[in-house]
Amino acid sequence: MILVLNAGSSSLKVEMFDHDLTSHLSGAVTAIGGAGTLKLGDRHDEVTTADHGEALALMLAALADAGIGMETLTAAAHRVVHGGTILTEPARVTPQVIAAIKSVIPLAPLHNPNNLAAMLALQAAAPHLPQYASFGTAFHATNPAVATRYAIPQTQHDAGIRRYGFHGLSYAHMVAHFGADLPPRLLALHLGNGASLCAIKDGKSIATSMGYSPLSGLTMGTRSGDIDGAAVLRISAALGEDETDRMLNKNSGLKALAGDNDMRTLLNRDDDEAAFAIDHFCYWAARHAGSAVVAMGGVDAVAFTGGIGENAQPIRDKIMTHLACFGDIPVHVVSADEEKQIARDAVALINAER
Ligand code: ADP
Repeated sequence: MILVLNAGSSSLKVEMFDHDLTSHLSGAVTAIGGAGTLKLGDRHDEVTTADHGEALALMLAALADAGIGMETLTAAAHRVVHGGTILTEPARVTPQVIAAIKSVIPLAPLHNPNNLAAMLALQAAAPHLPQYASFGTAFHATNPAVATRYAIPQTQHDAGIRRYGFHGLSYAHMVAHFGADLPPRLLALHLGNGASLCAIKDGKSIATSMGYSPLSGLTMGTRSGDIDGAAVLRISAALGEDETDRMLNKNSGLKALAGDNDMRTLLNRDDDEAAFAIDHFCYWAARHAGSAVVAMGGVDAVAFTGGIGENAQPIRDKIMTHLACFGDIPVHVVSADEEKQIARDAVALINAER
């Protein structure tokens, strides 16, 4: 069994996979840093945790109660949000890899520290258990320089101000899901609370809508998507850096346009604000899709994933209506499964080590 761990800003999700990538059990500790819950299969406990280390200890105890002790594990595999320019492939967790993840903390200050905390806590609890890491940015490492470079001075580029792209594990899973049937020029849209799209040519990312951070690109649940840097400077001069950050990441997007970031709720409303927010979401998804199609020199298929992409047919239809100018394109719906991709990466590394 492989224990997949996804340490978010205030949660720790786990899922158990066997080496054939069948999922056996999943769970989560939520509201880390206060009073939250621990769920594992049918189990549901109220728990208070101070940090990710405590949450992991409780989860390991719950797993042992469920008959999954340390001795049943062959490996643990972690989701790491940001790999920067150095961690561009899944890797076995070594002191060098830990140092590399630390070195890119400035690029993901809210996320990478939690991923590291889970790794180090597990290392302390089970020093002999091999650990692996998959990086949310790595799938986009194949983007050409013309796509990743902002047209700003080299010193800033060298300091890390460039496009990275995100949702990479979701896109990698999509490619694996298609297998031999992968369309050569695939326009992939991950539409959840966060939303991005990716131009996948011959299985490789060549362009993506998110950039330096997950803020850019499409209109999202609470993130603005693309906004002019000069506008950000002006807002920041008025509100200050922290408030601007909060506004653009947590109080913008659908929430700013219609007071709600839940697409299901918006689709059930019949007021003008909700209709405008939906139009905005679909229009900008299509505008960015056009850019991705140009990067691929055409498009053979479109694939949707994520909570909205998988479940909201009216949204898929609206976006495809905008894309009718590219002809009649086959549409696919793929269930997002980043955890399975993390397990797949770990199994590949384990097999390569044998
Ligand atoms: P996250 O990015 O947080 O993982 P998800 O991928 O779960 O988010 O997507 C959440 C979004 O999916 C929400 O806007 C939610 O309303 C939407 N969604 C889920 N189910 C449906 C549905 N049946 N119809 C429309 N929207 C849905």
